[in-house]
Amino acid sequence: MGSLNLLECNCCGRNFRANKGAMLFGEEHRCEKCDRSLVIPKGEKPKHKCSCSGEYKQEIIPRCPHCNSRNNKVREVIAIL
Ligand SMILES: [Zn+2]
Ligand SMILES: [Zn+2]
Repeated sequence: MGSLNLLECNCCGRNFRANKGAMLFGEEHRCEKCDRSLVIPKGEKPKHKCSCSGEYKQEIIPRCPHCNSRNNKVREVIAIL
């Protein structure tokens, strides 16, 4: 199951929200370059690259919007998706 999480950045200490994992209607993939996320039906693969030319991948840790670090931890689960 996926969830909407409140994350705390280990680099700048700020909080932000991000989805993580599979959701009811598909699985989340995330661009490794620009962090855009895309939800694809279960069992399917992304058909195209991101518009920034990065690859969509699963299980990428969301990036902090403030300092762009992927070093963060979950502070709180806001909702199960
Ligand atoms: Zn940060
Ligand atoms: Zn991208």
